[in-house]
Amino acid sequence: MVVVGTVMHTPTHRELQVLEHVAVVVRNGVIAEVLPASSREAVEACEAADEVVRLGARERLLPGLIDTHNHAPQWPQLGTGLDIPLEKWLFDYTFPLEARYADAAFAADVWERMVPTLLAHGTTTAVYYSSIHEEATLRLAETCDHFGQRAFIGRVAMDHPEGTPEWYRDADATAGIDASSRSIDAIRTMGSAIVEPIITPRFIPACSHELLIGLGELAGRTGSLVQTHCSESDWEHGYVLQRYGKRDAEMLSEFGLLRRGTVLAHGDHLCDDDFAMIRSAGAGVAHCPLSNSYFANAVFPLRRAQEVGVHVGLGSDVSGGPLPGLLPQCQHAVTVSRMLEDGVDANQSADSRGVASSRVDIVAAFHAATVGGANMLGVAAGLIEPGRFFDAIVVNAESGDSGLHYYEGIDDETRLFEKIVRLAAPADITSVWVAGRRVAGV
Ligand SMILES: [Zn+2]
Repeated sequence: MVVVGTVMHTPTHRELQVLEHVAVVVRNGVIAEVLPASSREAVEACEAADEVVRLGARERLLPGLIDTHNHAPQWPQLGTGLDIPLEKWLFDYTFPLEARYADAAFAADVWERMVPTLLAHGTTTAVYYSSIHEEATLRLAETCDHFGQRAFIGRVAMDHPEGTPEWYRDADATAGIDASSRSIDAIRTMGSAIVEPIITPRFIPACSHELLIGLGELAGRTGSLVQTHCSESDWEHGYVLQRYGKRDAEMLSEFGLLRRGTVLAHGDHLCDDDFAMIRSAGAGVAHCPLSNSYFANAVFPLRRAQEVGVHVGLGSDVSGGPLPGLLPQCQHAVTVSRMLEDGVDANQSADSRGVASSRVDIVAAFHAATVGGANMLGVAAGLIEPGRFFDAIVVNAESGDSGLHYYEGIDDETRLFEKIVRLAAPADITSVWVAGRRVAGV
């Protein structure tokens, strides 16, 4: 396949690159070449291709979005339940809903609605928490494979008698470790090219010491990636300090869970020492700006993390974050960074109200939503360049009612990029590919 048109992507968190009128040559799901469209090589590639997609004048090709933190079983409560703090939200709303996934038919019905919806929003890769249930988790993996979404699927491990309800937990540490191990085997046995398991201790407050040790060993033994929540809120961060006298990231490191590719969700209360540890481990943070506004009690310092070289992806945190897609999260990442920089309480003096040099722009946010997440996960995606999977979306800047329009004589490519990231709705996303397979769009 060859896609001919203009590409927009962000090789670094400071740089938007626009490749005007190029031919993106895709072989076996991987970008083989990016050529000037008028070159002889490009013309020959088009002649030899089984399919040539020529973008319209106002269509742009961008890398697909990588949602690095999403709780799939919370999909039915998306948009609700945002009125109480995290520790109460879990017990009142979330654990009762997640417990229902003991019913695999219920689970399959949710997955079959959710995965195509997220693809239509341009989410080409998702890092999912499932529930504690092995069958529901395997169904989620199968559903992603069926619809063609690249995914990391984690059976949630949680056994702590105080941090979890007795009607929704692993029976004990051994049962939790065994179930996670079987879940890894079951997903790997599928032989999917795009779906992998990920070890998923919910977070330290929900896990016994023995479970955390066992899952660290399981990660070492299987080479599976790991995801968990880390220093999310005052309560969660404070709980770990009280239980262990050490910070969340330090304890995850001691458990063998802070590894290359580990996804730490939220991280709003991480300090500079934590960032250094995360960076040297090759782990990263799933920044969930909208969810954090409801539950984290603080703003994640995205700019500081990017500048010290920590991998940062963006996450929807469905359903702590009440929106499905990742483009809106780019907007929220910018918005909350402005609030962090300026501060929020007008009764404080302007010079002490905020945290200087905290603001990010839409380029930095889109970088996190694409190649930042890809680099954290070790997935060759996130940019339209040779050697990377063709995980990509087409946005049409003249398709609908989202307010996304290109004004001749006013807009240029930089402004169009900003408009796309801030305004594009699913109706404007006219094609979505994962590994060269068209998975959504017309
Ligand atoms: Zn979460």
